[in-house]
Parts: sequence; structure tokens; C-alpha cells
Amino acid sequence: AKARGGSSFEVFDERMAAELKLRDEENNAIIAACRNNELEFHYQPICSILSGERVGFEMLVRWPEKSDLWFPADRIINVAEENRLIDLVGKYAISCAITDIKNYGLSEKVSVNVSPLQLGKNELLAHVQAALSRTNISPAQLELELTESSVLLEANGAIEELIELKKLGITIAVDDFGTGFATLDYLNMFPFDRLKIDRSFVLKLLRDEQSGAIVSAVAALARNIGMETTAEGVETQEQYDILRAAGCTHAQGYLLGKPAPLATFFNSKTKQYNL
Ligand code: C2E
Ligand code: CA
Ligand code: CA
Ligand code: CA
Repeated sequence: AKARGGSSFEVFDERMAAELKLRDEENNAIIAACRNNELEFHYQPICSILSGERVGFEMLVRWPEKSDLWFPADRIINVAEENRLIDLVGKYAISCAITDIKNYGLSEKVSVNVSPLQLGKNELLAHVQAALSRTNISPAQLELELTESSVLLEANGAIEELIELKKLGITIAVDDFGTGFATLDYLNMFPFDRLKIDRSFVLKLLRDEQSGAIVSAVAALARNIGMETTAEGVETQEQYDILRAAGCTHAQGYLLGKPAPLATFFNSKTKQYNL
């Protein structure tokens, strides 16, 4: 419909059309990169708070370095999910993780993010199984991170597939713990190995005492049911000290290192942080 006495709607429509076209082109570029296994992964170190040693890495998807375009990880994942490419991207991530563990002779654990959409078809299970059996790496070096969500619980066969994945000897973490729908029942339903305490709690640690109390309680709960806790987004020594006092077992964040190509971490021989 055209507004009476003005063309401002037409101008607006043109701008919207241009924006939509750009968005379409961008999405097509992302889709092509997913299809062609052109996405890259950066690794972010995780340390044991007890020993100060680097014991893990989280793999995070990145747009190819050589491209003149750039997109953030969550946009890439959203586009993959909306275009039924998340299974492909997810399987590629697992393959890259296992290849890197093998080729770099890593002793650290590698954590791979998994979308709930990947679960319930036993496709991820078959891929992990095949990838592990082609190599002689320990399954315990591979961890899957799942965001707490009701979707995960409702999806047919999702829990069953997770149970089978765990039987292979890999570990499973609840990502962004404290921000979603996780209830104590959720933790009861599946033997998760780790809670990843969301960055929003770590951010508040210096501002209010209550956040410290919540983090201590979560760490104690996890410990009592045999789970480890990784605090996400640790940027300062102060935060690290509070997390140590709160009884968190692991830390991840810019204080230890930003996500970077895996090779970056082998310039120095030491895995020890002095924190
Ligand atoms: P996430 O799994 O919670 O990953 C942690 C995010 O926090 C990453 O953002 C990381 O770069 C950022 N981060 C780490 N330490 C710090 C810190 O000290 N300060 C701040 N400000 N940020 C920090 P990124 O790489 O942009 O990834 C965003 C989200 O995209 C991830 O959140 C995850 O949900 C998703 N994602 C990334 N890679 C993959 C993937 O391969 N598969 C799937 N399914 N999802 C992925
Ligand atoms: Ca994660
Ligand atoms: Ca997280
Ligand atoms: Ca997150």
C-alpha cells in the first residue's frame, strides 16, 4: 500500500529490499562455506585451577581467514541450523578435532560445541564412532558441549544418543549453565561430566557477593554429584581468585588466552599458567 502524499515508504522499501538482498548474499556465502567444509576452528585454552596447567581447549568455529568477508560464530551456526547444514558442520568439527589431537599429539582434551538439532538421529554417534575407530586417540580426549535447553530434552532419542556417545568414552558438558532451562531434574536425567558456568556469572563476581555465593553453591553441587565445573569468560586475576575460592575446577577466558589457531599454542613449550 502506498501512503498518501509521500514517497517515504518507497524509499524505505528500496532500502529494505537492498538490505534483504545483502543478507541473502551473505547467507549464501555462509551456506557455501558450510557445504565445502571451508570453515575454520580456533582453539581456546582451558586450565585446571588446582594445578594451573592447560588441560583442554574449546574449539570455536571461525570464518575462513583468507576471505574478505567476516561473520561471527553464532551467525554462522544459525545459518547452518536454518539450512539443514548443522549436521555437516558438526561432523566436520569432530573430524577436525580428532585430526588435530592426532597430528599435534595433543595431551589436552578438546571440547566441541554441538547443536541440539544434531541429536536424535544417531548420525553424530555414527560419525564419532567411525572417527575414533580410525585413530588410536583416547575417547576421553573428546568432549561435547551442549547448551542447556528444553529442546534437547524433548527431541526424540536425544538423551538415548547422548548415552550411547558417553558409552564410547567421551565426556559431555552442559554449556552456558545458569542461563537456560536446566533444572536439577535435568542434571538427574543424564550423567553429564561438566557444568560450564556462564560468563554472565563470572562478570558479576566483582560487583556483587551474591554471584560468588551462587557460583560456590553450583561448584559444590557439581562436586557432590561427581561433575567438574569450568568457569567461562575469565578475564581478570581477581575473577580467577574468586573462582578458585569458590571451588571451581577449571577456568577459560581471555586471562588464559583468546581463541586462536591451534599452532599458536605451541610456540612456547610450557603449558603452565602462573595464576
Ligand atoms: P560458547 O560455546 O559459549 O563459547 C564461548 C564464547 O565466549 C566464544 O564466542 C568465545 O570466543 C567467547 N569468550 C571466551 N572467553 C571470553 C572472555 O574472556 N571474554 C569474552 N567477552 N568472551 C569470551 P564465539 O567464538 O563468538 O562463539 C559464540 C557461540 O557460538 C558459542 O558460545 C557457541 O554457542 C557457538 N559456537 C561456536 N562454535 C561453534 C561450533 O563449532 N558449533 C556449534 N554448534 N556452535 C558453535
Ligand atoms: Ca561452548
Ligand atoms: Ca558457553
Ligand atoms: Ca554462549
